[in-house]
Amino acid sequence: MARIVMKFGGTSVADIARIRNVARHVKREVDAGHEVAVIVSAMAGKTNELVGWVQDASKAEGSNFNIYDAREYDAVVASGEQVTAGLLALVLQAMGVHARSWQGWQIPLKTDTSHGAARIADIDGSFLIQRFSEGQVAVIAGFQGIAPDNRISTLGRGGSDTSAVAIAAAVNADRCDIYTDVDGVYTTDPRIEPKARRLARISFEEMLEMASLGAKVLQVRSVELAMVHKVRTFVRSSFEDPDAPGMGDFDNPPGTLICDEDEIVEQQVVTGIAYAKDEAQISLRRVADRPGVAAGIFGPLAEANINVDMIVQNISEDGSYTDMTFTVPSGDVAKALAVLEKGKEKVGYDVVQHDDGMSKVSVIGIGMRSHAGVAASAFRALSEKGINIRAITTSEIKISILIDGPYTELAVRTLHSVYGLDKQ
Ligand code: ASP
Ligand code: MG
Repeated sequence: MARIVMKFGGTSVADIARIRNVARHVKREVDAGHEVAVIVSAMAGKTNELVGWVQDASKAEGSNFNIYDAREYDAVVASGEQVTAGLLALVLQAMGVHARSWQGWQIPLKTDTSHGAARIADIDGSFLIQRFSEGQVAVIAGFQGIAPDNRISTLGRGGSDTSAVAIAAAVNADRCDIYTDVDGVYTTDPRIEPKARRLARISFEEMLEMASLGAKVLQVRSVELAMVHKVRTFVRSSFEDPDAPGMGDFDNPPGTLICDEDEIVEQQVVTGIAYAKDEAQISLRRVADRPGVAAGIFGPLAEANINVDMIVQNISEDGSYTDMTFTVPSGDVAKALAVLEKGKEKVGYDVVQHDDGMSKVSVIGIGMRSHAGVAASAFRALSEKGINIRAITTSEIKISILIDGPYTELAVRTLHSVYGLDKQ
């Protein structure tokens, strides 16, 4: 017998028929004798609709300007998950499963006061453990909690993954199963490279990079949390027949296990290729080379909430001037340029240049720590395809390369094959 947290995303609970299918997955685990808690998202599209209503309602009359009270935003958008939790409990009951729904505040899942993007502060697992001991399946509304001001809070878009992992940690679950509309984590995006393979296992660190670099399977924060608390997290499909062979095999179900690297026996050098489109490159030419310049540039950008990604600074030739290049999401270029213009005098630079429509392609693998030449093979392969490299950044387990957007697909396929990910 195991203790399992099961999480179902929006497309998996999009209508009653799909909720019935979800209930069959739950019943399968309950019938196998496991203790089960279920976390649900809102029905697909529901949260977007609710956010739209909030924006509409908070517009001042005759103006396009809208600024809304984040506490009321939370009161509205948290309702989507409340609905699915209740519906799934009803469907489970109709199937003869002893189930009950719970809202975030009832657990309670305590957060900080950052309404709209709250962070989890504390979850006392004993409430749910008590439910397990009563043989109850607890169906929990994801994405929401309760803030110190005694009001409902939400965890930011995609936050029900984080609810699930946090609850799995709090009840010391054997595994957190994330059921979604894909059947696992792939070596790269199968829509770009049909030879992409599903990974049986991937380490927390690699998954964190994959998720941050564009693979949208899991909310990044949920992976951080899984890594910190060592929650074995399993990505699998909710659309498969719940009773298909192997689905109920606890030790080896179909999908991808995100786990500690110690659990990965045969570590490949490179595990996956990720990409992010719509990046823009901004370069400041002839920046004074003196202490405080980087702080003077990136401080104001951070204050304006602009997410700066790759940063490349050259060593100046004569010790007086240098160039500074960095990337931001394309949508933030105008805002970034305005911030830079404002600080021009203080920072001291010649001109600012920018280029939209870039992509960042990344090679990820913990095996890189102990293998030389991984970056060199990427550069060679890209050059053979005539792909120009704009900027490069590396960490212990990844290499990110900035290229022109139209070459994204070719670069992804080239790198995927260079590291032998097409095979096996
Ligand atoms: N329903 C929320 C959203 O759409 C939370 C989630 O699905 O994880 O962002
Ligand atoms: Mg999601």
